[in-house]
Amino acid sequence: MKFEQRIPRETSARLFEEAQQYFPGGVNSPVRAFRSVSGPPLFIAEGHGSHMTDVDGNRFLDFCCSWGPLIHGHDHAHIRDKVIDTVRKGTSFGTPNLLSNQLGQLILDNHRYVERLRFVSSGTEAVMSALRLARGYTGRSKIIKFDGCYHGHVDSLLVKAGSGLATFGTSSSAGVPENVARDTLVLPLGDRDLLEQTLTEFSSEIACIIVEPIPANNGLLIQDRSWLECLRIKAWKHNVLLIFDEVISGFRVGFEGAAGLYDVQPDIITFGKVIGGGFPVGAYGASKEIMDFIAPVGPVYQAGTLSANPVAMAAGLAALELCLEPGFYERQASRTDQMATQIEAYAREQGYPLHVPHIGSIFWLAFGTERIERADQIDPDNMKYFKMIHHELLQTGVYLGPSGYEVGFVSSAHSEVDLQEAVAKICAAMDVAFA
Ligand code: PLP
Repeated sequence: MKFEQRIPRETSARLFEEAQQYFPGGVNSPVRAFRSVSGPPLFIAEGHGSHMTDVDGNRFLDFCCSWGPLIHGHDHAHIRDKVIDTVRKGTSFGTPNLLSNQLGQLILDNHRYVERLRFVSSGTEAVMSALRLARGYTGRSKIIKFDGCYHGHVDSLLVKAGSGLATFGTSSSAGVPENVARDTLVLPLGDRDLLEQTLTEFSSEIACIIVEPIPANNGLLIQDRSWLECLRIKAWKHNVLLIFDEVISGFRVGFEGAAGLYDVQPDIITFGKVIGGGFPVGAYGASKEIMDFIAPVGPVYQAGTLSANPVAMAAGLAALELCLEPGFYERQASRTDQMATQIEAYAREQGYPLHVPHIGSIFWLAFGTERIERADQIDPDNMKYFKMIHHELLQTGVYLGPSGYEVGFVSSAHSEVDLQEAVAKICAAMDVAFA
C-alpha cells in the first residue's frame, strides 16, 4: 500500500539517511527505525508539555512520552529547574551525594514493598542486577520468565520458549549463548498448572520467577490479580524469589506501581523510566535482608560509574515529588479511562475490530474485540491496521510509538482539549484504516 505524505518529512529523511553512515540501521535503539510503520523516523527537535516538534516543523501530540518516562510531559518547569540548578554545581563526582539520599528517602518513605534500593542507569541494568542478586541470594541459577514479557536486553532474558511447553529457552538474539538461554524457562502467562509442574520439577535449581506484573511491551496484557497472587504463593511454596519488573508500571500506575495496585508483595522490584524524570536511571529494591547481599555489604558484585548521577537524581526527585501530589494518579487514570472508553465506543458503533485496554495512564490500541491476555492471542496480521492508523495520525499531528505492539502513555501535561483532539483524530484514523 502506498502512503501519501501530507506533511513535510524531508529533513527527517535526510538526517536518517546521514545517520545510516554512523549507526546500524541509522538508530541507537531498533524500534526507533520505524520499520513496522511507514516513512523515515521523525527527528525530534524539541518537546514542551504534551507536544513535540520535529526538524521539519511538524507538531505532534505525543503519546509515546519517550517510551514511558515522561509522566509529566516534556520540559516540565519543576524538573527543568531542579536539573539546571544541579548542573550548575557540576555533573558527576563518583561519590555519594545528597540528591540520591533525598530520592532514596522519598521512595522508601512512600513504597511499602522496598526497604533498600540501589540506583543504576537503565531498566536493563536494574533487571540484570536483580537476577544476579536472586541467583546470589538463593545459590541457584535457573529463572522462570513468561512469554510476552520484555525485561530489557539482558542475555538470559533474550530467550523464547523452545519447542513444547515448559521447555528450556532458546536464545531470541544472536550472540546469546545457548547455555545461557538454557537456564531460562519460558512459560505462558496465566498457566498455573504448568507453573506448578515446572517449579516442582526444577525447584532445587530455580532462583526466581520474573514477571512484568502489567505486561506492556507486547501490547498491554492486563493480568488478573489472582494470577499475580498465584505467583506470590507458588514462589513462597517453592522457596524461590519473585521479581516484579516494574520498569514501566513503577511510579506509573501508582506510586507503589503494580505491587501496590494489586497489593501483591514481590521479593525484588526493578524500576526504570518514570524514576529518572527523563534521565537515564534504573533501580532495584527489596527487603534489607535481600539487599544486604549486594556489595559492599554482601557477596553479589554490582557497580556503576554514573550510578546515582546527581543530575539524573535531581530529575527523578522532581518527577516523583510531582507524582506524590494528592490525587495525581486518580486523575491520570480517570482521564485515560475517559479517552480509551470514547475511542472504544466509536469503534463499537462503527463495527470496527478494535478495543483499548488501559490501566492507570497506559493504553493500547488492540485489534479484535476479545480481551487479550497472552502474547499468542495477538494476530500479527492486524498490524497492517496499526500501520495505517499510525501513518494517518502522523499526518494529523498525533504521535504514537512506531509499532502496534507498543503501548501509549498519557501524561499530566495532556490537557482535556488534547485528549478530546486525540479521540477525534484516532477515530478519524480508524475510519481510514478500516474503510
Ligand atoms: N523492563 C521492562 C518492563 C521494560 O519495559 C524495559 C524497557 O522498555 C526494560 C526492562 C529495559 O529498560 P531500558 O530500556 O531502560 O534498559
